Amino acid sequence: MTEPGSYETNVSEDTSPPVSYAAKVAEDTSAPAAYKETVNLPKTKFDMRANANKREPEIQKFWAENQIYERLSQNNPGEIFILHDGPPYANGSLHIGHALNKILKDIINRFQLLQGRKVRYVPGWDCHGLPIELKVIQNMKAQERAGLTPLSLRHKARDFALKTVQEQSQSFQRYGVWGDWEHPYLTMTPEYEAAQIGVFGQMVLKGYIYRGFKPVYWSPSSKTALAEAELEYPEGHTSRSIYVAFPMTSLAAGVKPALEEFLPDLGVAIWTTTPWTIPANLAVAVNPELTYAVVEVRSQKGSEGSEGSGEELQSKIQNPKSKIQNPKYLIVAADLVERLSATLGMQLSVKAKVKGSDLEHSTYRHPLFERESSIVIGGDYVTTESGTGLVHTAPGHGQEDYMVGQRYGLPILSPVDADGNFTPEAGQFAGLNVLGEGNQAAIAALESSGALLKEEPYVHKYPYDWRTKKPVILRATEQWFASVEGFREEALKAIASVNWIPAQGENRITPMVAERSDWCISRQRSWGVPIPVFYDEETGEPLLNEETIAHVQAIVAEKGTDAWWELSVEELLPEKYRNNSRYRKGTDTMDVWFDSGSSWAAVLKQRPELRYPADMYLEGSDQHRGWFQSSLLTSVATNDRAPYKTVLTHGFTLDEQGRKMSKSLGNVIDPAIVIEGGKNQKEEPAYGADVLRLWVSSVDYTSDVPISKNILKQLADIRNKIRNTARFLLGNLHDFDPDKDAVPYEELPELDRYMLHRIAEVFTEVTQALEKFQFFRFFQTMQNFCVVDLSNFYLDIAKDRLYISAPDAFRRRSCQTVLAIALENLATAIAPVLCHMAEDIWQYLPYPTPYKSVFERSWVKLDEKWHNPQLAQSWVKLRQIRTEVNKVLEQARSAKMVGSSLEAKVLLYVSDSQLRQKLQELNPTSNTIPHPSNNGVDELRYLFITSFVELLDSPEALAGVTYNFQSDALGIGAVEADGKKCDRCWNYSTYVGESTEHPLLCERCIPALAGKF
Ligand SMILES: [Zn+2]
Repeated sequence: MTEPGSYETNVSEDTSPPVSYAAKVAEDTSAPAAYKETVNLPKTKFDMRANANKREPEIQKFWAENQIYERLSQNNPGEIFILHDGPPYANGSLHIGHALNKILKDIINRFQLLQGRKVRYVPGWDCHGLPIELKVIQNMKAQERAGLTPLSLRHKARDFALKTVQEQSQSFQRYGVWGDWEHPYLTMTPEYEAAQIGVFGQMVLKGYIYRGFKPVYWSPSSKTALAEAELEYPEGHTSRSIYVAFPMTSLAAGVKPALEEFLPDLGVAIWTTTPWTIPANLAVAVNPELTYAVVEVRSQKGSEGSEGSGEELQSKIQNPKSKIQNPKYLIVAADLVERLSATLGMQLSVKAKVKGSDLEHSTYRHPLFERESSIVIGGDYVTTESGTGLVHTAPGHGQEDYMVGQRYGLPILSPVDADGNFTPEAGQFAGLNVLGEGNQAAIAALESSGALLKEEPYVHKYPYDWRTKKPVILRATEQWFASVEGFREEALKAIASVNWIPAQGENRITPMVAERSDWCISRQRSWGVPIPVFYDEETGEPLLNEETIAHVQAIVAEKGTDAWWELSVEELLPEKYRNNSRYRKGTDTMDVWFDSGSSWAAVLKQRPELRYPADMYLEGSDQHRGWFQSSLLTSVATNDRAPYKTVLTHGFTLDEQGRKMSKSLGNVIDPAIVIEGGKNQKEEPAYGADVLRLWVSSVDYTSDVPISKNILKQLADIRNKIRNTARFLLGNLHDFDPDKDAVPYEELPELDRYMLHRIAEVFTEVTQALEKFQFFRFFQTMQNFCVVDLSNFYLDIAKDRLYISAPDAFRRRSCQTVLAIALENLATAIAPVLCHMAEDIWQYLPYPTPYKSVFERSWVKLDEKWHNPQLAQSWVKLRQIRTEVNKVLEQARSAKMVGSSLEAKVLLYVSDSQLRQKLQELNPTSNTIPHPSNNGVDELRYLFITSFVELLDSPEALAGVTYNFQSDALGIGAVEADGKKCDRCWNYSTYVGESTEHPLLCERCIPALAGKF
């Protein structure tokens, strides 16, 4: 298999460009006008230039007016095919990644349509959520912002989303993407929102939804909880990490004998990258399997000590506050003693060793607050990879901490508010921001208490809010959760039942689902679908049951979710709960991933023309964390099955050097400019959608894909080559009607039958490539076929027959028979990718067909009998000889011995006697044996495009020839042709001059004029 991403044609033979014979004949003013007019020149109105900016919209209009997509998606004979669209956010103009995504989908859909399937593609948009809310707020003046209510914000957000949907829809349609653009799905329409509340309701009834006070990713900069899919981990985040000693206050029975002697001066050493969580510390976790050591601490003295410790000592001397010294003895993991000794700049000598499990229930005193806490048993996350082997545990600020805390019945202390400021529960730190001065204050307090062993900068992956690009924190809040634990096994089974393309996709999503925590689905925003819950004003108890959910769902189906803000609590509640304002409504909205993750219910299940599960979901590989997962979870939770049968993922777009696109690098490729052209059309020509689509087919989408101006230019050239090949075929069929003029297969010359064999091979390969979603194989095969098989070989040879023969001559009609087959299949095979050009070709077919559009023709049509490997074997050999002959002719041409190959005679010797026999049959003019083939096609002179070929019995005859090539198997020479040049066909012939009627013509042209050749 060839490597994707190469734009060079692999031209294995005849690298000379095909001579534009027609142009030459037309320009030759010396030829008598009468003969010039007897040459059959190509005729077509199919433009040499794509003129895509004008032509593509015309073709799209033709499709729309004739309802080609609509009719095929209803009337095709095959099964329904549903590629379910992952909704992009309705917040801004499209970038090249959108183009890659939507065009990949369209290539698949169009191929399936051509395969006879009823393809029904409903494009969608994700309309709720923070990205749009932020855009709306950013566009407002300060005064407006002050008067903003949830409803007015929602209205502005809705208008913004609608406008963006319309703009994006126009762009997608301009790419040539077919679908139900009149009825897209929007996550903000009442029917969608009602279906989503339905999914939520089913999960509530199955017991998968609960309210909990748990640490969640919290973004102080946007004041909301965030899902894991809403986080990013930028490079180079540096935290202030600290080593801290907590003084021990009591020992568990198991370690008492061994450690009692150290007790008053004994501390547990921990390490953390979030010093601000120390005020919330409620435990220290150990690994029960690890061995821990009690070490005696001595600060290293003199110049031998590390700089850190020297400074530390210095600062302690100068700082009168640090009266309290670090404990004399520390507990650390035994394996870490050496490393910690270096890190802390302290001499650590081991005094005793104990097992981790024995330390459980020993107690220590918080260094900043008057409280005692215990040593607890943590999980596998307690390792000796970093830190001290003992883990600071704050159940309000970490997922693992929370789990351990639950096991030991610890409170969930989270003294941090929505802005990220310490609350009064944090005592002296109240009001300070944990990402700034609060963090500093905690470190300073630990230092003055003598608990701080060491501070050092630590570079690691740290989560940021994907929208505001600011760090987030883990903070316990009251949130609504979907219990993934409740259906994790089913979700993993569903994953295993799906076909993942590429296969690594399964390896990505499986551990993500296996290891993920429960899904926090509530958000503190206004622009979203409300969690339809009510709370008891007095007790705070939530009211959420089948009846209340169904009631809200019915209201939403009619009025949309604005009703949640517009209507009173009484109106939102079923009758039996309407009593004396006992309830208030909740203010949380759902995570937008719950919105889009419900699309299988709101779209696939709700629309009668669609099917659930979908045949395919297709998005960028980041959606293993996002939409693929959220859709899977909601679908498995309610229906115990995946919402898709196949998931195809693609990579991201980079520039030629593999860099991300950015304005500052100037490497951004805007799909709109690729299509319409830029301000300077010389630098940024209007390539049209087909070039963009050809690019999509050319890349290996399974990893990140490159795009650049240079790449696009090369692709435009390839598009033009294919276009010109099609134009040549169209032009030479201007007087051909397959119904009347086609030559039966059995009567075709060998060359034509060989070409049909190639056509069968090539289009079988293309079909397989598309079936397997290996579009780059399609790209390379089509490109090679057009350039190597057609342009440089078959069509190059065909020109003589097409132009010179009588219009209705056998040798011309047989060639046209092959050209028509090649053209129709070429147009069909490129249609999934180069959809506009394929249709353009179809509209210029010079003979009637039953199909108005190329898409109505169904897929390529190949005949079993074309497959002829034996014939192919000998023609492959002939093509190899032709390649060598062309090289020799090229020598003669560049040395100006001949102007064109027709001025030459080829001398040819082959050592293989069987092959020599074959060549003799193909060289009737050599007169050595009778020539059964003499059909005016299967002759070496035509194969080589020379006037004569002389077969040699031995290679010696080549000795005196200036331009030659010799190997063990082959000898080739080029000499000047005999005779004179025919004025009509430019072949050389000794016959020229013999006819009194046509003294300037050869023995072929005279019968040709009489309709006999
Ligand atoms: Zn002639």
